[in-house]
Amino acid sequence: MDRENPATEESLEPVETDDADDVEAALALADEVYPSWSERRLEERRQLLADAADVLRENEEEYAQLMTREMGKPITGARSEVEKCAWVCEHYAEYAETYLADDVHQSSPEAKALTSYEPLGPILAVMPWNYPLWQVFRFAAPNLVAGNVGLLKHASNVPGTAEIIEEVFLEAGFPEGAFQSLIVGSDAIEGVIEDERVRGVTLTGSEPAGRAVAETAGRELKPSVLELGGSDPFVVLDDADVETAAEVGVQARTLNSGQSCIAAKRFIVHDAVYDEFVDAFVEEMEALTVGDPSEEDTDVGPQAREDLMKDVHEQVQDTLDAGATLETGGEPLDGEGYYYPPTVVTDIPRDATMATDEVFGPAAAVFRVESEEEAIGLANDSSYGLGGSVWTEDLDRGERVARRVESGCVFVNELTKSDPRIPFGGVKNSGYGRELSEHGMKEFLNEKTIWVQ
Ligand code: NDP
Repeated sequence: MDRENPATEESLEPVETDDADDVEAALALADEVYPSWSERRLEERRQLLADAADVLRENEEEYAQLMTREMGKPITGARSEVEKCAWVCEHYAEYAETYLADDVHQSSPEAKALTSYEPLGPILAVMPWNYPLWQVFRFAAPNLVAGNVGLLKHASNVPGTAEIIEEVFLEAGFPEGAFQSLIVGSDAIEGVIEDERVRGVTLTGSEPAGRAVAETAGRELKPSVLELGGSDPFVVLDDADVETAAEVGVQARTLNSGQSCIAAKRFIVHDAVYDEFVDAFVEEMEALTVGDPSEEDTDVGPQAREDLMKDVHEQVQDTLDAGATLETGGEPLDGEGYYYPPTVVTDIPRDATMATDEVFGPAAAVFRVESEEEAIGLANDSSYGLGGSVWTEDLDRGERVARRVESGCVFVNELTKSDPRIPFGGVKNSGYGRELSEHGMKEFLNEKTIWVQ
């Protein structure tokens, strides 16, 4: 599988692709190891997960540098990502027993009724390149500790990271086959989902990829979880702390060089604070350091692939052609690497590309609204519903508005983020199902009712 450093456009050493026989061998091994893995004492699985956290921390620099080379993630963010993966392993090592405890139900007095949580078998994860370590660990940690085994089809531009993840689990002492990476293209995925040994599938990625995977899973009657894109609203109300909102808004848009499903993408700003917000926001965007992702002080690195950078540029151009105003940025940077600058667009017609589509890069769409009601209406005027952020000094108001935003999560006076302790996922075209916390852990478990009389 070919790969390229998006900061330099240099080819990296290719990673060998798995053929049909390799995939069959991986499926057979997953199937073979599952019974003994799922029957191991929970205590042992928890310990192995805690050991995986140690392996991650011991190798933090190596893994961070690999991500930076393969997909251009700024190195400080790459290190934090490794640390967050260690955290999710530790979280489930600590809480698995509580999360997996039986639920006892009210039933007739002479009977006992409970739900026990039992694993299903090998689960396939189709994962994207943007958080190439985190997206996988947030799937792997809860599933492995609960007794499922994992199969990973990673994005084609990060095969090195895919191999490293398999090694982390082996080095931690997990049995061979408990977690395997299939180095294959997306054309191999339909067959893997159809295979009777695979018991469920989760995908994080684009809407078309989600639809393709869900279609096969539906046909095969297998559970699926989809975490797709988003066009999250960042609502700044008239009583917001504008300076903080602008500062956090810039982070929320440009984190991971703008390539995050839960990045703030549509800034919906009350007329009373609009000018103040836009001035501060543009100033902060222009102050970001764009450049070599291996440098410590880089805020925004390259986009992960040339086609992705071109997509962002096209979306900005389309929106400007529709009559919007460019406040800053707007042109790919000259020289090697796929760099797109922090960009701010205002006066956007409500049917222009940046209003309707997900922009997966550091380009912000800013809208002016006259009232709270209009802000909520615009926030919900999207086919997506992943996250959202509401800014106000009145916390009751913030909560009230948050409840009316159609999305999987809303943060008041904070940017949208994922956290092992809280559920994560979307509604509408952002997908279904949840990851993380107790909720995410139970997506691929048999919630079995047992009645004893
Ligand atoms: P994709 O959705 O194409 O890739 C994500 C994963 O899905 C990859 O492993 C990919 O494999 C796989 N995949 C793609 N098509 C299929 C299919 N038909 N069946 C099974 N698996 C499939 O994302 P891109 O890399 O092309 O990025 C395009 C856009 O997707 C972004 O601009 C962004 O809008 C969105 N995206 C959203 C993410 C999120 O976090 N929600 C993450 C990444 C992208 P392969 O790489 O081999 O094609």
